[in-house]
Amino acid sequence: MRSTMHGVWVLATVLLFLSGAAGPALAQPTRAQAQRPNIVVFLTDDQGYADLSSYGHPTIRTPHIDQMAREGIRLTSFYSTAPVCTPARAALLTGRYPVRSGLVNALSPGAPIGMPATELTLAEALRAQGYRTGIIGKWHLGDGPSFNPTAHGFDYFFGLPYSHDYRAPFVQGAPPVPLYRGTAVVERPVDDTTLTRRYTEEAIRFIREARGEPFFLYVAHSMPHLPAVASTRFRGRSRAGNYGDVIEELDWSVGEVLRTLAELGLDRRTITVFTSDNGPWTNAMPRSFQEGQTLQDVGYAGIFRGSKATTYEGGVRVPGIVRWPGTIPAGQVSAELAANMDLFPTFLHLAGAKTPMDRPIDGYDILPMLTGRAPSPRKELFYFSGRNLEAVREGRWKLRIAPPQQPGQTAAAPELFDLERDPGERSNVAADHQDTLARLRSRIDAFREEVAAAAPAARPGD
Ligand code: MG
Repeated sequence: MRSTMHGVWVLATVLLFLSGAAGPALAQPTRAQAQRPNIVVFLTDDQGYADLSSYGHPTIRTPHIDQMAREGIRLTSFYSTAPVCTPARAALLTGRYPVRSGLVNALSPGAPIGMPATELTLAEALRAQGYRTGIIGKWHLGDGPSFNPTAHGFDYFFGLPYSHDYRAPFVQGAPPVPLYRGTAVVERPVDDTTLTRRYTEEAIRFIREARGEPFFLYVAHSMPHLPAVASTRFRGRSRAGNYGDVIEELDWSVGEVLRTLAELGLDRRTITVFTSDNGPWTNAMPRSFQEGQTLQDVGYAGIFRGSKATTYEGGVRVPGIVRWPGTIPAGQVSAELAANMDLFPTFLHLAGAKTPMDRPIDGYDILPMLTGRAPSPRKELFYFSGRNLEAVREGRWKLRIAPPQQPGQTAAAPELFDLERDPGERSNVAADHQDTLARLRSRIDAFREEVAAAAPAARPGD
């Protein structure tokens, strides 16, 4: 068998060489199809940087995600592009700062906006390359029919249109939360205690049904967003209480999906990513702490300052694990700068698609960094809160210029942090580095002008 396979490879290589010499028409599709991987993205919701064993949590056990990290690269300067759900997801799926799509704030049920038809989503771009595309989990990019994921490049959708806390008593007056399969509501109100288990079953089925066709699977878990709930099987199992149970069920879920890939012989043909959409919601409003949920049911940003919805590191620095056996060397830990919007051009390149030239794409192809062949192409990252550009990171430096708390107040003093010496943003060193302050301030001013000129007009609901 092995010698036969070897013979086939030799023949294929010779044919590839010959057809390449004769003309690219024969060679290119063969090579692209042979190399392009399946893509699986696990996105958790409101999970902190430090909620995994491999990122420093002392009592939550996450052996499957930790193993995924050991078998690939574990990034320690990986960012979500926004500190709340909707814009973070918009960036991941468009490769652009959310201000460009206008999806800058978390969308409520019935919001009149959603993913614009003019945006090219990762699912649309990959489907055009022959990928089967699926989203299992939370969409949160609009809940009207024209905003359904199946209208934006996904062949398959099983999940929620928005967060599972848009219901009483957390949000008074919200309609019961619907669970969708495609464009049909299949359960209402959704039983959120079984979501992680059901998402896992759906993800496994999606992979099995691909039957050799390349696929893009986006597993956007609803957990551990408040209310954080685990299925019966996982309740009371962890040393870290309910929140630990929820994270350990997510870890089980990742393990089940990875086990399925291995069983089907897809390990070396699949790139997998694990990350979170934003930091822990420690600053949630009192309405979020009901039905037994307390601050103990929220995660940790570890040594980072701030939380969800802030432009301190704790709002946007998230776990970033990428695994692709045989291509991304195992055992890497890297502090190279990267963001979730970088996945868009990276995956397009892997699928053989060209990055669109008709619009600004803010992401970079980070595969050479992930494989250890080159430093990250990302040299700077802008931090937005809604439409407000509040901070920029360039290398080790971060400048944060928060807007006034109240109209008419003067803005707070600029904060300059050396993130390599002071990742927790405790020491404002602006006074000692006036040149760096001026340079980064000019970068913020220039990018503010660029996106203000390019951004769509304000929409209802913003
Ligand atoms: Mg979130």
